[in-house]
Amino acid sequence: MFNSLSDRLSATFKNLRGKGRLSEADIDGTAREIRRALLDADVAVPVVREFIAKVKARALGAEVAQALNPGQQVVKIVNEELVGILGGKTRELALAKQPPTVIMLAGLQGAGKTTLAGKLAHHLKSQGHTPMLVACDLQRPNAVKQLQVGGQRAGVPVFAPHPGVSSETESATGDPVKVATEGLAEARAKLHDVLIIDTAGRLGVDAELMRQAADIKAAVGAHETLFVIDSMIGQDAVNTAQAFNEGVDFTGVVLTKLDGDARGGAALSVASITGKPVMYASTGEGLKDFEIFHPDRMARRILD
Ligand code: GDP
Repeated sequence: MFNSLSDRLSATFKNLRGKGRLSEADIDGTAREIRRALLDADVAVPVVREFIAKVKARALGAEVAQALNPGQQVVKIVNEELVGILGGKTRELALAKQPPTVIMLAGLQGAGKTTLAGKLAHHLKSQGHTPMLVACDLQRPNAVKQLQVGGQRAGVPVFAPHPGVSSETESATGDPVKVATEGLAEARAKLHDVLIIDTAGRLGVDAELMRQAADIKAAVGAHETLFVIDSMIGQDAVNTAQAFNEGVDFTGVVLTKLDGDARGGAALSVASITGKPVMYASTGEGLKDFEIFHPDRMARRILD
């Protein structure tokens, strides 16, 4: 991902670095090229507009005029502003003072929630936690089974509505809010310190899905609500993220499918549009294809 954006920005900066002094026209030209590169990478228009305004204001100011190497200084500004739209500092998981810490996953169907649940459990286990997974996606046929397989791979127990759901086409029945609260009681009884709740997604945002997710969140008092989003989704990322932000007031974002050839717009838009940090990235289908998201490293990856 980001290959094309990265190439375009590198070419722009190569031009800039060679210049001893920068005229206003140089800065305008550079801003225009960065703007085009970001729009072509599918970054949301308001995000691009704000980004360019900030970069330009700083580039025309004293920090560049007085710099020994003005071109280099502009590159530094772009880097800093990019870290800013990616959420600033790396955001750690907020652990509850009184365990278990409850983490709920929300997002559209196919975003990668169930896959992520297993990876997150595996990651937390490797850090010494004792997580448990709860299967509250009772809409998608086979989601419970898929979570059970993920849990097994991660070596983490899965609380499910009933164990008989194994057919490829059968979907589980029951009330997801009840399953979540029973899962929480089980986690308390068995002294699991983290609970990860997988919830149902739809192909598009809908009111019922959102209400269900909000009900689960309220019933279990989730400490973290992670919005899981497919980074291939492009310009739709903004509307989807806004809908989930309003619906469940999520605390962090997980970008999935960063291994794909998406142009990267979603990754660059979501944190900025919602004001919520990206916390994790999923980079494949395997248990270990998972990263803590570091805005500074991601910015470097784009600009280097
Ligand atoms: P859910 O409906 O949100 O629970 O989505 P799933 O976890 O079932 O994932 C949907 C599809 O995307 C599955 O085929 C996953 O194997 C695949 N998938 C999930 N995360 C990633 C990822 O980071 N990279 C790639 N390449 N595929 C992924």
